Amino acid sequence: MSARPIYLDSHATTPTDERVLQAMLPYFSQYFGNPASITHQYGWEAEAAVKQARETLARAIGATPEEIVFTSGATEANNLALKGVAEAYFQKGQHLISVQTEHNAVLDPCRYLESLGFCVTYLPVRDDGILDLDRLQDAFRPDTILVSVMAANNEIGVLQPLTKIGEYCRERGVIFHTDAAQALGKIPLDVEAMHVDLMSLTAHKLYGPKGIGALYVRRRNPRVKLAPQIHGGGHERGLRSGTLYAPQIVGFGKAVEIALADMDGETRRLRDLRSRLWEQLSTLGDIYLNGHPSDRLPGNLNISIAGVDGQALLLGLQPVVAVSSGSACTSAKIEPSHVLAALGRSPELAYASIRFGIGRFNTEAEIDRVAEHTIATVRSLREVALKF
Ligand SMILES: *Cc1c(COP(=O)(O)O)cnc(C)c1O
Repeated sequence: MSARPIYLDSHATTPTDERVLQAMLPYFSQYFGNPASITHQYGWEAEAAVKQARETLARAIGATPEEIVFTSGATEANNLALKGVAEAYFQKGQHLISVQTEHNAVLDPCRYLESLGFCVTYLPVRDDGILDLDRLQDAFRPDTILVSVMAANNEIGVLQPLTKIGEYCRERGVIFHTDAAQALGKIPLDVEAMHVDLMSLTAHKLYGPKGIGALYVRRRNPRVKLAPQIHGGGHERGLRSGTLYAPQIVGFGKAVEIALADMDGETRRLRDLRSRLWEQLSTLGDIYLNGHPSDRLPGNLNISIAGVDGQALLLGLQPVVAVSSGSACTSAKIEPSHVLAALGRSPELAYASIRFGIGRFNTEAEIDRVAEHTIATVRSLREVALKF
């Protein structure tokens, strides 16, 4: 059996940490109760575990436990935030502001709202991927009800200036939503300091299980109203019905606890690995970093390589390293990523781009092996290209 490729696709998903898995296991068959069962011990046990995870999550972002609404992931949290605000505030206004480089889990609900008659402004970004705050200020209208800007980009890893954006929104009485799926556990988040009103979270990007996430919903200064999108039983203060998935919630809490325990050390380690990879790849020449050089997630390296065909490059890398070109969610379609297009990259360069997502379990030896193989692949593709 040949070895599996080295996994460098941490922005698509991450393996569940063994410690997370161990914390989850008792909640499948031993403490299996329904957290909503208030009449017996089985329910109380599950509810106690959910309560603890809720507190951990709240503490991680500077919120209170009552402000955490569990969902199936960040996609559902984004849908609840965007559609929930639109439905609750449409009489106040019908204009929303977002950004061209958002994840499809924000862009698609925005397009859906447009089909209902809402108006959405999709702001451009600078060529380093960061939002131009002047453009944001110009985009506000008297009927703007919501601004949605992601914390960290899933393709190029850039970090948006949340605190400033939050200030602008607060001054104007506009609700501020951020998709923090990539940011949770990687960079410090604080809904008070950043003036965030709604924040989407997910467990599987930080070594937790898939299928569990949350939406932070501000309850005071100001209290944010949301129209629920899933009805049936009134769980989660009526905002998201459905039996709470206790094992997943326990895993989510454990994953957050682990990530917060050594965020600084892990950030340094990932940055070092990324520099190591970038320094080796730079020797190729004619390669370009996509996104701001330092305002980015520590494990993200997104590059465009001139003089090679994107498809051939991916095929050449596949046996040795699992990476993605553009976002995993759109890589089924053969078109350059909308994020790289928004940075002004030519279609050829956008197409010949690789997203390396370095994670908790990657080692120096793996990085060196990936660098060596990538360099060899690019060199041979460039030689072939020269012959024609
Ligand atoms: C992964 C991701 C999502 C989707 O999260 P799920 O929990 O898989 O639904 C949304 N936004 C961003 C920025 C992501 O990286």
